[in-house]
Amino acid sequence: MSKFESLSEIQAVLGNWQESVYTPDVLTPEARITRMFEEMDEVMDALPSCDNHKIAGELVDVVIVALGAIQSLGYNADNLIYEKIEVIFRKYNPVINQELRANGHSSQSAIDHQKQVWNNTPC
Ligand SMILES: [Mg+2]
Repeated sequence: MSKFESLSEIQAVLGNWQESVYTPDVLTPEARITRMFEEMDEVMDALPSCDNHKIAGELVDVVIVALGAIQSLGYNADNLIYEKIEVIFRKYNPVINQELRANGHSSQSAIDHQKQVWNNTPC
């Protein structure tokens, strides 16, 4: 069972902590996104270890920094992720994807096709 009920709750807890230990200059969206790339480098550095716990821990660092960046942009992570998932499900409709694959598309080719259709669909 999770110790948190939502990403918003995690954002709030982390936000309070970050504001108490960091100066405002490192809490800007730009600084946080730069930090996220540093954390992503740590993920890449951990990959050769084949230590899944270590790799997953580094990925969590990326998520934590991303949640802070989202918050500093003024957004609630729960709402944004819900919106994104909705778009992903419509953009990469599983029924259409399976039809494409049944008609000879590879997994990646089907995804690429769906992405192209989505990008060419008027609002
Ligand atoms: Mg890290």
